[in-house]
Amino acid sequence: MTRPISVSPSTGEKYKVYIDRGLSIAPFIKNRLPILVYDGRLKPMNIPGARKLKLPSGEKAKTFSSYRKILDLLIKSDTGHPMVLIAFGGGAVGDVVGFAAATYRRGIPFLQVPTTVLAMVDASVGGKTAINHPDAKNMIGAFHQPEAVLADLNNLKTLPVRQIRSGLVEVLKHGLIADKKLFEEFEKDPAPLLAWDSSQLENAIAKSVRIKGQIVAKDALEKLGIREFLNLGHTLAHAIESVHNYRGFTHGEAVSIGLVAAGLVSKSLLNFQETERIEGALANFGLPIKLSGESSKALILATKKDKKRRTSKLRMTLLTKIESPCVKDNIAESTLATIAKKLGAR
Ligand code: NAD
Repeated sequence: MTRPISVSPSTGEKYKVYIDRGLSIAPFIKNRLPILVYDGRLKPMNIPGARKLKLPSGEKAKTFSSYRKILDLLIKSDTGHPMVLIAFGGGAVGDVVGFAAATYRRGIPFLQVPTTVLAMVDASVGGKTAINHPDAKNMIGAFHQPEAVLADLNNLKTLPVRQIRSGLVEVLKHGLIADKKLFEEFEKDPAPLLAWDSSQLENAIAKSVRIKGQIVAKDALEKLGIREFLNLGHTLAHAIESVHNYRGFTHGEAVSIGLVAAGLVSKSLLNFQETERIEGALANFGLPIKLSGESSKALILATKKDKKRRTSKLRMTLLTKIESPCVKDNIAESTLATIAKKLGAR
């Protein structure tokens, strides 16, 4: 068991992330009407008296239609008695449920019960919520912190290894940003990290949550350039996902290639010396580090839809060395295009 991790966003909320096996949600309901919204691939949690809503599995949950269904259920269930929304699923369900919680009556409490590694280490913590516009991912959203996060490792039992590996890319990223030793675990023997019941995986999740918590404590609303460190690898990753219509690559796999690209851009602009280490660690872990003939023009065009893009030039999170991230503005599109070509784009 990991000691609960306190998260204190700079916006003033306080909550805990519980990482354990066999967590009970009962103490968190507190005499409120539980509204359980869950990923359709999963058997719903057993919560006495809960209203339940099943959403399409994965990214298909982050639509206007799912959002509307959650609001419909909330309206139908709302008798004035307090309610608590519960998101049971991966980052996709967490994001849409969080967005419904943020906007219904201008904000009601919600609990995150993440069932993927990615959601445990990243999406469930920090209060970013969103749905997708058909033309742009995560474009409609709000900041709304959960009341608690219950990361029950038993929920990972059914998660395919590909998804475990994919979620661990965000752990590796957290290592690059803030914990060299965590990164080095991927260079040594990463195999134990892939076992859903290993203590290595539990420790890696806990370390990752602490890192994300520390960043959110300084810059919850992403206004100071600190939370943007978490975007390391994500500029090209979002473009890859968009060009592939969110199929083919998982988010983590796209971030893997994005991290290599960020390493190469860091090398060319900031004389970063450890790009090969990043490539080696990702390849060692069985993750993709090359593109497969995507058009570099299409990739650059896709970065324009990135909601974090503020000017016609690119803004990217880079590394001066491991544990030293920085955000750089005014990167010429041609710099990223050249690197994308080096990685296998045409
Ligand atoms: P996901 O929610 O799409 O889940 C991935 C797949 O695993 C889906 O097919 C899902 O049905 C399945 N699944 C979930 N739990 C399972 C389980 N226990 N057993 C078997 N299958 C299971 O993806 P994800 O990787 O968890 O999250 C990605 C989403 O999170 C993206 O939409 C991304 O934008 C979002 N995200 C949000 C934040 C944030 O800060 N809010 C951060 C990172 C990512």
